Amino acid sequence: MCVDHSHHDDERPALSRRHVFGAGLGVASAAFLGGFALPASADTATTATAPNAISPDEALKRLMEGNARYAGGTPNCTDFSASRAARALSQHPFAGLVSCADSRVAPELAFDQGPGELFVVRVAGNFVNDDGLASLEYGVKFLGMPLIMVLGHTNCGAVDATIKVVKDNISLPGHLGELVSNIKPAVEIALKAKPEDQLNAAIVENVRYNVRELETSTPIIAEFIRDGKLKVVGGIYDLATGKVTVI
Ligand SMILES: [Zn+2]
Repeated sequence: MCVDHSHHDDERPALSRRHVFGAGLGVASAAFLGGFALPASADTATTATAPNAISPDEALKRLMEGNARYAGGTPNCTDFSASRAARALSQHPFAGLVSCADSRVAPELAFDQGPGELFVVRVAGNFVNDDGLASLEYGVKFLGMPLIMVLGHTNCGAVDATIKVVKDNISLPGHLGELVSNIKPAVEIALKAKPEDQLNAAIVENVRYNVRELETSTPIIAEFIRDGKLKVVGGIYDLATGKVTVI
């Protein structure tokens, strides 16, 4: 079974009907928001008793211990039905992830976490655009998550394609060119240093670049960091070993 941090027995549901539909939100906007129900105030989501009311460092420790279990072949999470009823009422993720869409990188598995523990934004090349940023802002401000990890991975096809675009000026079909334009700034920084292993250097710089973007993102993320309530870290997932290295 998963280590269950998702609820306390004495905890009342964090989102009442009033909160789910949001004071002042019309029916149309509530429907539009769908799963992104905005609490009327942030306090219900970030009470001291919430299961994710832990420090950023504790959250990182929890994440890395889960990765050690996964990489060692001793995961706890096999029963995903546990605590489903409690999760239907509220969510308390302890970490946000910016992950590549790559099918070989599966954050909940890689960190041995059950549903409700990780708030994951995925896009090929694990960069943060406005919509991804807004999703993370929701997780930080309304769900109270104390940690965000930008998770790159070895042998990333999106970063590799971006290197080819930058170096060989190739053009990509469909909307791929737009996607790659988001990864380009980091790749250009990495290539300037003339690294021996261009792909790995670009993968690492792409993670660092997006960590910096998040750390300086106003008004929400930067303020939570300044108040000590949030940390943003970078990690690289090794496809060959399943291990995540914090960079
Ligand atoms: Zn990738």
